[in-house]
Amino acid sequence: MTQAASSAVEGVVGSSRLTSEQHDQLVSQYSANNYAPLPVVIRQGKGAWVEDVEGQRYLDMLSAYSALNFGHSHPEILEVFLEQAKRLTLTSRAFQNDQFGPFCQEITAFCAQDMVLPMNTGAEAVETAIKAARKWGYQVKGVEADKAEIIVVDGNFHGRTVTIVSFSRDEQFKDGFGPLTPGFKMIPYGDAEALAAAITPNTVGFLVEPIQGEGGVVVPPDGYLKACLDICHENNVLFIADEIQTGLGRTGKVFACDHENVKPDVLILGKALGGGVMPVSAVLSSKEVLGVFNPGDHGSTFGGNPLACAVARSALHILRRDKLAERAHEVGQTFMGRLRTIGGNKIKDIRGKGLLIGVEFHKSAGVAKTYCKQLMNEGILCKDTVEQVMRFAPPLVVEQKDLDWAFERIEKVLL
Ligand SMILES: *Cc1c(COP(=O)(O)O)cnc(C)c1O
Repeated sequence: MTQAASSAVEGVVGSSRLTSEQHDQLVSQYSANNYAPLPVVIRQGKGAWVEDVEGQRYLDMLSAYSALNFGHSHPEILEVFLEQAKRLTLTSRAFQNDQFGPFCQEITAFCAQDMVLPMNTGAEAVETAIKAARKWGYQVKGVEADKAEIIVVDGNFHGRTVTIVSFSRDEQFKDGFGPLTPGFKMIPYGDAEALAAAITPNTVGFLVEPIQGEGGVVVPPDGYLKACLDICHENNVLFIADEIQTGLGRTGKVFACDHENVKPDVLILGKALGGGVMPVSAVLSSKEVLGVFNPGDHGSTFGGNPLACAVARSALHILRRDKLAERAHEVGQTFMGRLRTIGGNKIKDIRGKGLLIGVEFHKSAGVAKTYCKQLMNEGILCKDTVEQVMRFAPPLVVEQKDLDWAFERIEKVLL
């Protein structure tokens, strides 16, 4: 490397001399104010642990909303990432690359689906699933042009595009962003009868999270997913599972739908699929559904890029080899059991599956964010979802002794 090049590298990833406050100042001056982060500035991470610019260590119990199921800088994922980055990073789909085919073969086998359509972010994959369901509705089911309806549930979170916020639970998500996209019908979550009642001849899909993550770690009643799947199939409606957050081991099964042996007609993945290093998302389905796309119908410059494909292949391999879903089940069960032993009068409910755990506070105890700040001071990073609910979702590779360490502090704060 030339001296100029090496100083360009040093200038970007060399040791930063700015303090947390100085970073905070830069962000508030130059960044749009669309997040309200906890006041911690992280500079490096390894496994379940991160370190801030002052050298303070924290246990990461958010995992970037489950995008870090494999932890920070997983050694093998990182090696694949670096090797592939040196070789080839991007071709666009105008040409083929030697990672894309194997990726498609491996992920479809992994998910027991016929075909895949790769994208980058979760919201893009949800948009893709909506487009697929609509086009399937017109071409295969025979719905009259522009009449397709998709049923969604109250409390959903599927991303932030204009179309997706059009059917959001949250008024703030929509406020100021109209005109919104029509064609969606909202029903209560956890109520299969409501689905049966809402279906019309124009219904093409039912879009649902098997457990609502952002909605407050809401677990539907046992049998709900299976009942909905059956109702969808009786009515020739696609059951579309958004497993962007719940998929890839998080809930103690490879997919949260596996808890009810449900195989969705359309499966949406994202977050952890990128191994914590790349945005990688995907829609998986049958030939009948994804077969509706012809060249030019849909696309993405970065979707299916060789770096993303290589990383996703290694992520799937490691998930299976290291039995991370089983691990999430075992470690999560123990951890949730311990959380349930916390007395006091702050906690209203503890729920979840595997390592996706929500703690709901009584209104009288104040909002969840208060406790997230207190936990931060104890060296634990987590985040509120809805006002009263805090989520614990550490990387699936978290060590038992780290959770033991965390529990002592959590008990102190939540008691
Ligand atoms: C995070 C999330 C999304 C959106 O993913 P982005 O990558 O942020 O666009 C969609 N659905 C669910 C269930 C999610 O948790």
